[in-house]
Amino acid sequence: MKPLNDHLFLQAFSCPLKFYYSISDKRSDYHRDFFRQRNKLHLRDAVASRFTNIKHTSNDVEEANKETESWLKEGEVTICGAVIQHGDFLTRIPILNKTSSGITIIQIHGKLRKRSMESIRMDGKLGKSVINYLVKAAYRSEVVRRVFPDSLINVEFYFPNKDFKSSLDHLHLHHKVIKSESDKVDQELQQLFTVSDATEAVKSVSDRKPDGIGYKLFDSLSISEILEKISNLKTGRADSDVQNIHSACRYCQFRLGNINEPGCWEEHFNPDDVIKGNKHVYELIGQGSKRDLDNNQYFQEEITIHDGLHSFDLMKKFGGPHITVQQRRNLQVLQSKGEWVPRLWVKPGIEILMQLNFPLHFIDFEAATYSLPMKRGSQPYESIYFQFSCHTLNSDGTLEHAEWLDMSHGENFPHDDFTKALTQIPEIEKGTLIHYSPFEKQALNKLIRGFEKNSMLNKEKIEKLEIVRDGLNSQKSDRFFDLSRIVRDFYYNGFMNGGLGLKEVLNSILLWEKSSIQKTLGGLEHPDSFTVPIKDTLDPYLHIQTGNNQILDGSSAMNAWISFKCGLLKEEERDEVLELLKRYCELDSYSMVILYHHLVRLFKMRENGSEEIIL
Ligand code: SF4
Repeated sequence: MKPLNDHLFLQAFSCPLKFYYSISDKRSDYHRDFFRQRNKLHLRDAVASRFTNIKHTSNDVEEANKETESWLKEGEVTICGAVIQHGDFLTRIPILNKTSSGITIIQIHGKLRKRSMESIRMDGKLGKSVINYLVKAAYRSEVVRRVFPDSLINVEFYFPNKDFKSSLDHLHLHHKVIKSESDKVDQELQQLFTVSDATEAVKSVSDRKPDGIGYKLFDSLSISEILEKISNLKTGRADSDVQNIHSACRYCQFRLGNINEPGCWEEHFNPDDVIKGNKHVYELIGQGSKRDLDNNQYFQEEITIHDGLHSFDLMKKFGGPHITVQQRRNLQVLQSKGEWVPRLWVKPGIEILMQLNFPLHFIDFEAATYSLPMKRGSQPYESIYFQFSCHTLNSDGTLEHAEWLDMSHGENFPHDDFTKALTQIPEIEKGTLIHYSPFEKQALNKLIRGFEKNSMLNKEKIEKLEIVRDGLNSQKSDRFFDLSRIVRDFYYNGFMNGGLGLKEVLNSILLWEKSSIQKTLGGLEHPDSFTVPIKDTLDPYLHIQTGNNQILDGSSAMNAWISFKCGLLKEEERDEVLELLKRYCELDSYSMVILYHHLVRLFKMRENGSEEIIL
């Protein structure tokens, strides 16, 4: 059996059953966002640049272990990706710095922190995320201590400095600077990160597991004792160690199953009288699950229905013009109890869609935030708009697509080109900008504010963006239309699983229509990608993927572009990743077109204006 690594330790620490699922062959472990991983390593290297005699280990763990062993024989050394193993326990450390005074374990975390916070103390004010960093460091520290029992072991955490403002351009290209500029870049990187000494806090966690974190089996134990217990778990099923649902279940990837296998709750905690073991309280929309959990009601079927709303008819009778969160929740519960609920319930309020000014621009922006600023004067995590897709629906029913993606070299900051391409979308100054969530409107305002920092120079861009934002012929209040509002207030689809995000809504429409997305709706470059057989996977986002790299959500799109911009993509994968980014954004704006057509079709099905649609 493979040694326990950092990830497996954290899984076991959180729940022995998680550990079992993680090592079990039949379960996939956890989905890695490879772009995010690359960007994190890039950040690590930005921290490492302040040290001397820097070495990088190989990707392969065994090889890295041998390299670490050999390099640690040197007097002073900084090892990026050091691998230390003691018996069955192995750790891969972001940076291991060895000097004459001892060994320092260095972890880099993304959370912004103020320079004033120099050392981390276990004083009760620590947030859960920092305690989790300490637990990870305590495991690493224990493995290092076992290999080097006589060494002084320190722990340092690096965080991006909340007050940092870059005085250089292109800090994200720190690895490519020419020698004559490297001193300036190094100085800048020194100021970008705050350093917190975590040695004492890690020692405290190592001596005794902090209350309220980790599984109760390990309460009051030291890390060394916890490792002993985890060793005993190894190949066993661990069922006996976890007898109840507990707090870590909420975000556990093993709680819900998939089409092939039951989830953990269904397998281990399903009461005899619960038939739908895969429908849990955590998937109920909105607030209110705490009361259910306090009453030990974990499955939707167990929830008590209040206010006498025991059937859809009663709900309808007492309902108003909107579909409320409480009603959605009630429908989920009724459905889980096997009561009749409609597949579709649409309120007359969708009529507002018929009053929109054409052309309708279904627009989607992608933004990136990274801790290494790409531009002078910017701070960590400032938004950078790097892509948009716009499907324009004309009053005669024709649909046009415009898109833009920053594919320029790493030094080119994209906002000028983004603005230029956006303002060139045909007839963008007319009609309505349709978006899903307030993000696009906020982005336009942020772009304008950014250009206003140098308003003389950027006068033309500001004016053009203001035209995009305000339109030429419309009232300002009619210019933007948030489709998510219509869904939230007037539309219920029984295939939704609680969430009202665009991807979930799209999937629920596909399921309801039980047909393919027709290419006649789109005029897209990759029509075949959008033909989705209903019995196979329904998620059209899976159908646009190619090769090994996946872009399934806004976060992976962001990380893919950051990897590209920092020059971290391999030559042979660059074109594929850029193509994938285009497809992803295109599908986002196209999903809104599908949603719009779906709602308009439903509206036209009604026989009179005040009618609700119940199917
Ligand atoms: S669902 Fe809960 S009990 Fe099951 S593996 Fe996850 S955390 Fe453990």
